[in-house]
Amino acid sequence: MTAIIWFRRDLRLHDHAALHTAALTGEPIVPLFIMDDAFCQPDAVADKRSHAFLSAVDNLAGSLQEVGGRLLIRRGNPADVLCQVARETGADKVFYNRAYTPEARKRDATVTEALERQGMRVHACKDLLMHEPGDILTRQRTPYALFTPYKRVWLTLPKDRPFPQPTSWRMCEGLAEMPGESAPLAEAFGRKRPVGSEWATALFGERTARERLQQFMHEAVHRYKERRDFPGLDATSHLSFALNAGTLSIRTVYHQALEAMEEARGEEVASVEAFVTELVWREFYQQVLYHHPHTTDHAFLPQFEAVAWENDEALFSAWCNGETGYPIVDAAMKQLNETGWMHNRLRMIAASFLTKDLLVDWRWGMRYFAKQLVDFDEAANIGGWQWSASTGTDPQPYFRIFNPVAQGEKFDPDGTFVKKYLPVLSEVPLQYIHKPWEMPEHVQEQAGCRLGLDYPDPCVDHASRRKLAMSLFQEAKDSYARTQK
Ligand SMILES: Cc1cc2nc3c(=O)[nH]c(=O)nc-3n(C[C@H](O)[C@H](O)[C@H](O)COP(=O)(O)OP(=O)(O)OC[C@H]3O[C@@H](n4cnc5c(N)ncnc54)[C@H](O)[C@@H]3O)c2cc1C
Repeated sequence: MTAIIWFRRDLRLHDHAALHTAALTGEPIVPLFIMDDAFCQPDAVADKRSHAFLSAVDNLAGSLQEVGGRLLIRRGNPADVLCQVARETGADKVFYNRAYTPEARKRDATVTEALERQGMRVHACKDLLMHEPGDILTRQRTPYALFTPYKRVWLTLPKDRPFPQPTSWRMCEGLAEMPGESAPLAEAFGRKRPVGSEWATALFGERTARERLQQFMHEAVHRYKERRDFPGLDATSHLSFALNAGTLSIRTVYHQALEAMEEARGEEVASVEAFVTELVWREFYQQVLYHHPHTTDHAFLPQFEAVAWENDEALFSAWCNGETGYPIVDAAMKQLNETGWMHNRLRMIAASFLTKDLLVDWRWGMRYFAKQLVDFDEAANIGGWQWSASTGTDPQPYFRIFNPVAQGEKFDPDGTFVKKYLPVLSEVPLQYIHKPWEMPEHVQEQAGCRLGLDYPDPCVDHASRRKLAMSLFQEAKDSYARTQK
């Protein structure tokens, strides 16, 4: 008999649970990727995001070719496509790796039902996470809503080792003649290739991901703790795309981190531990969304569901375009718009600024990030936004509001990052780089940066907006408390 491997967010051949499990049967395999129609809509996701993901699919197709196989790429409803491919190939089994978001779970339940109705066997494997949502619960068997106790348990549990890549491949005969899309996919699906040399297809494949991992574990991980918050340094792993598209597996990353821990000396140990903590955040947010699916669109903390956001369209648009007049926020948004990725410290600053300074609903920002981020992950995005907006689990308390000038001065002290994405500020003296509105006119002339002409005046006054935000959050809390009496 024959087994279909349904590739989704696991676009690799090494350390792949479903592939490994299917290979153990010794039966010929049909590698399949199904293109979701929604993903191809021009407005659904930015070109960078779709290009990166489809490039990873292209890369997987190339890797399969190297081992004598072929990736079938079909478009349409997954249940229909899988039944059709099973009919064409005589397959009686489907293997895939489990996903945990509300939409993905609904889709997988429908697909499983349809396939089982056709008499097929469906094997869903654990792959995306080290520990699945139900694995870590409190003594009362409830999910954790606080990160620290969750992490304590996560660290003590036994961990799976990476799976070996199959050594011999038995591909279903006749695959080469079967109809299906061929690479390069992004163009085939009518998506423009983004401008810029960094958009080379090779960047998004399995090989590049493994190289990036090796490089990071060899050097930067040992100084991660002290350097990770500075966007002007290349100090974080940049593995988020690889982990979300699955060009790297979490087992491989985790076990490489353990090896780096063994080599670490003194302070370096804490650095590797800090990196592992980030991997735990990734799983923490997956389980929050799994157990609280309403958080896709509602506040985790009900008292902050009804904050009276102003939702000013012009301010939102200034934020999206990096034209707020606050350099650290604007440079962050330019980084997102130009590269499809944003440094974690900047995601927090930009999200805090949108919600607490511009008083725009966190859901607007969350959707903008979802469209632009190459490394988009629904659970991490919701978690990050709700944390920043003070509406989520372990939130930043609503009265502790980031000051964009102080954040800039602390985390981009020499203005390297701001100048990179806002070249108009490149001649601005350091003392004004994070508050250009304080520049006297003659300094503006000398720096070639006239406020209101070359660079915008600040769109709001931080001090007064901070007070307003606190009162709106307090009002929402009080009014919720009254409804609970
Ligand atoms: C408002 C907001 C939105 C975010 N949206 C996303 C998103 O859509 N996709 C996404 O992968 N991350 C998101 N994050 C988390 C984090 O910013 C990115 O994972 C990180 O910046 C990716 O860069 P890196 O790979 O160099 O991270 P590193 O610092 O090297 O961390 C290693 C890995 O740990 C995971 N990780 C790190 N920080 C977090 C975190 N706070 N939450 C969950 N996982 C984490 C990622 O998989 C990351 O690749 C968001 C954070 C905020 C504040």
